[in-house]
Amino acid sequence: MAALADELTRPRAGECLLCYTARMLEEGGCDGTLRWVRRWRDVRLPRATALERRLGGRGAYCDCEVFLNGWTVGDHLAQPGPDGEPEWPDTRPGCVGVSARSSQPCANWVPHRRGW
Ligand SMILES: [Zn+2]
Ligand SMILES: [Zn+2]
Repeated sequence: MAALADELTRPRAGECLLCYTARMLEEGGCDGTLRWVRRWRDVRLPRATALERRLGGRGAYCDCEVFLNGWTVGDHLAQPGPDGEPEWPDTRPGCVGVSARSSQPCANWVPHRRGW
């Protein structure tokens, strides 16, 4: 059972931090910590120990805040919502990939504009 769970929560080859975290939030939700961020880091870049601090600098202290406060889907992927504001598409495309040594998001993601 543990081995199965391990397999299910393993980042895919080349999958960036944000695509992975978004995917796992859909699977397992947020538990109020950077659980999925840490999981990605432990598997992909165990030496990236400053990652949580970097995310905290963007107001992301748990997995869902990564998307509430940090990044959102790029304009090319967003679809207009009922109020005319861009929303996440019903199905996100797969990760377009980042280099194996990068903790940067792939081209699917853009930082939130701070318009207020
Ligand atoms: Zn959260
Ligand atoms: Zn990605």
